[in-house]
Amino acid sequence: MGYSYDDQNVFARILRGEIPNKTVMETEHSLAFEDINPQAPVHVLVIPKGAYVNYDHFATEASDAEIVDFTRTVGEVCRKLGVAPGAEGAGYRLLANAGADANQEVPHLHVHIFAGGRLGPMIM
Ligand code: 5GP
Repeated sequence: MGYSYDDQNVFARILRGEIPNKTVMETEHSLAFEDINPQAPVHVLVIPKGAYVNYDHFATEASDAEIVDFTRTVGEVCRKLGVAPGAEGAGYRLLANAGADANQEVPHLHVHIFAGGRLGPMIM
């Protein structure tokens, strides 16, 4: 795919401990932390620890172990936050911006978890 990874991006710096973060969960291959500018009552980001620019990069080049860890961590974080469907009224939205057309701001794959109340309709 030929993605080049900028190791000075803000999430790379968080992973190196150069910038503080409010960690929600950490696993062997993934880190979940609170978004600095929340857009919902619950707004958490989940990132792989590996150097992947976006979802396409991750899906094509990450190991099976990284993909399983990341996928399970997103689900675990939602359960830990008490927003997994099943609890009355609960639910969440997952979002991953990839590339310029989606206005991806930070060039390290991240999945947004939005929750904590009735969310508005999806905005295109
Ligand atoms: P994107 O637009 O790339 O999908 O989203 C990037 C997200 O990263 C934004 O929601 C923004 O608030 C968040 N963000 C940017 N810089 C930092 C930071 O230094 N710390 C944390 N916790 N979140 C950040």
